[in-house]
Amino acid sequence: MPPTFAFDQPGVRIRLDELPTDPPKGTSRKEAEARLAELGEELFELQDLLWGARLHSLLVVLQGRDTAGKDGVIKTVAGYLNPRGVHVVSFGPPTQEELEHDFLWRVHRHTPRKGEVAIWNRSHYEDVLVVRVHGLTPASIWRERYGHICDFEELLAEHDTIVRKFFLHISHREQQARLLERERDPRKAWKLSVGDWREREHWDAYTEAYEEAISRCATPRAPWIVVPADAKWYRNLVVAEALVEALRPYRPVWEAHLDALGHKARAELAAYRAAARTS
Ligand code: ADP
Repeated sequence: MPPTFAFDQPGVRIRLDELPTDPPKGTSRKEAEARLAELGEELFELQDLLWGARLHSLLVVLQGRDTAGKDGVIKTVAGYLNPRGVHVVSFGPPTQEELEHDFLWRVHRHTPRKGEVAIWNRSHYEDVLVVRVHGLTPASIWRERYGHICDFEELLAEHDTIVRKFFLHISHREQQARLLERERDPRKAWKLSVGDWREREHWDAYTEAYEEAISRCATPRAPWIVVPADAKWYRNLVVAEALVEALRPYRPVWEAHLDALGHKARAELAAYRAAARTS
């Protein structure tokens, strides 16, 4: 089982440079891939129960610097799920209409309904990340947002949403390698963006912004998981493991609920047949 760097208490100081971006020494890629396949099966089963029981929903928030692998996680981990119950939403720069609302308006409409999974590629955290780094709103405004974010996520949890937030943690060196690789590979060059290199110049400012966001908005019901993301195979394993661990405790509740529903449906059918016989 991979060690997870999960943060679920607000206010604990976080230093990203003290947290690993590499898999732990001695981790075997082959074993990790085999374990991921098992977790994928369990994830599929758990999602099926979530869907049937409709007692909870799951919100997965993916954050990370450019090239950190948000799309890769979606492809791999969401690939294990039944698409019927999954919504993937990407949050880019806000539209004029979105800017004319409070910052949570655009995300709130994409929260998952009971039985469903929502995966957010970027999120409301951009409003304390890119907005802070580039001074897109005055500090007096973004500073207030940490509290609003905690309250918002608490509200979702109150409504039986299981919330897990992932920071895909890559090193400065690995990001450079990935950006250069995109440039070299004709099949990947379409992903190139001057913006990615420009944002890289703000590496330290983003580090500070992420540290504060993770530290202030880590709560027991909406924890942050800092995922070592320099190796894609390990990154996928950590995310899958954390999701299975988040859902697994609910299995007995969902199974009991589905049994009760099955019992009721059978009783209704028996009553219907009995009535048909006597008429
Ligand atoms: P990605 O880089 O995730 O593959 P895009 O190229 O569409 O996808 O980038 C999304 C961009 O939108 C990022 O540069 C991000 O910083 C920006 N963005 C997201 N949310 C906000 C926000 N609330 N305010 C300003 N910019 C934002």
